[in-house]
Amino acid sequence: MSAEKYIKNYINGALVPAVSGDYLENLTPSTGEVYSYFPDSGPADVDQAVKAAQEAFPGWSNAEPRTRFRLMMRIADIIEQNLEVYAKAEALDSGKPFTMSSTVDIPRAQSNFRFFATAALQFGSESHHMAGSAINYTLRQPLGVVGCISPWNLPLYLFTWKIAPALAAGNTVVAKPSELTPMTAFLLSQACIEAGLPAGVLNIVHGLGPKAGQAIVEHPGTKAISFTGGTKTGQHIARTAAPMFKKLSLELGGKNPNIIFTDCDFDEMMVQTLRSSFSNNGQICLCGSRIYAQRPIYERFRDELVKRTQFLKVGPPLAKDTDLGALVSKAHMEKVQSYLSLAEVEGGKILCGGTVANPGSTYENGYYLRPAVIEGLPIDCRTNQEEIFGPVVSIAPFDTEAEALELANGTPYGLSATLWTQDVSRAHRMAEHLQAGIVWVNCWMLRDLRTPFGGMKQSGIGREGGQEALRFFTEPKNVCVKY
Ligand code: NAD
Repeated sequence: MSAEKYIKNYINGALVPAVSGDYLENLTPSTGEVYSYFPDSGPADVDQAVKAAQEAFPGWSNAEPRTRFRLMMRIADIIEQNLEVYAKAEALDSGKPFTMSSTVDIPRAQSNFRFFATAALQFGSESHHMAGSAINYTLRQPLGVVGCISPWNLPLYLFTWKIAPALAAGNTVVAKPSELTPMTAFLLSQACIEAGLPAGVLNIVHGLGPKAGQAIVEHPGTKAISFTGGTKTGQHIARTAAPMFKKLSLELGGKNPNIIFTDCDFDEMMVQTLRSSFSNNGQICLCGSRIYAQRPIYERFRDELVKRTQFLKVGPPLAKDTDLGALVSKAHMEKVQSYLSLAEVEGGKILCGGTVANPGSTYENGYYLRPAVIEGLPIDCRTNQEEIFGPVVSIAPFDTEAEALELANGTPYGLSATLWTQDVSRAHRMAEHLQAGIVWVNCWMLRDLRTPFGGMKQSGIGREGGQEALRFFTEPKNVCVKY
């Protein structure tokens, strides 16, 4: 298993170049240099992948559930045995610290395969008894060929979060990772070959979103699209797929609030708030980017957050003491910087960070930014309304519970929210009224893979996770038997 210079598509069980023979450059954000190439795939490659998946579907969907289980567990084992290779590839491709990819991203990719391999064996369906006359039961059957499209921020983690339930439920898959982070998806193709996954069951097509991704969404052979990415791309995908009556799961952007009440466990809140602000450079859809602290502790909180933020070490992804690595691309760094300038125009004061960092030696052209804390912005300004997806948080005080709710719910997004309070009644009251698909109380990103995962409002439609994912990837059919 190895990260190679020329990444290949994985179609019908083989590693192949794009039909056109063209490759695109893959940069590592750690140095800004090209270090590998990936296929510039298009409709012809997607068509081959869909045909291979269609041919593989009868065999895979009719296989003993135990067969699917064993193969998926084997893939997880291979990822585990090669943890270091995968984690290093993820760090170089995305700019995130190896300390994160080796403890979060890659272990979670293994768990995704193991969790859904097991969950599918436990998957039940409903029956509805009409007393004295009939029994209804629901069959949940695989859809056929499904499309899975994922983003760059948690590359293999989110790629496998879709692929694993789709395969476990008996579907065959055509999947595309982000063009910014293709390497671990390529390693996954090697793992599938080593595990003996039958040809065509999983096909991985590399390439650009508007070309290869669009071809997956448009292809009449894909019956469902599971997409994670930006809200604008989600809208575009919905416009294409909805008239074709494809099932759609859209996990989109966020602008998540953290609400900190005076009665919180201050020390634990500080530790977790620093994580929720700057983990993965703030490039996690669940990061809390708007932080509201109750007035009596606001100044203490602000000063402590600034102090701890300034201690974070920005450095190369493979260095052991790096807290924040490189941002994923030059374009993304410039986008984040443009929001920092905008914040000042909108009346915000940057309390720390926001400047370019240079870890020195060969890393001077990488995309490094010091994490920023901004104060003094009104709720309705663009900096507080639009997703920045970088190491930037905006902080503000509030007085009452009602005001905190209004602030928290005051954006078009509704992915997650975090509450810090020791008052159980208040936590329940707030949770009931928060417009978010996920509410964390006195914790952040504590994940149980059985729970529904997703957002409301412009953060998407549908839920992933546990039974929700298995339901999405199956077609319910009611059978009514009169007796
Ligand atoms: P993006 O929308 O630019 O790209 C996501 C994927 O879609 C990529 O693989 C891309 O190639 C593909 N794509 C682009 N255009 C396409 C098209 N026309 N048809 C089909 N596919 C297309 O998003 P990104 O910049 O890679 O990721 C960052 C975004 O993802 C942020 O908004 C973040 O909040 C969101 N995100 C959401 C969740 C969640 O669970 N809600 C999780 C992680 C990231």
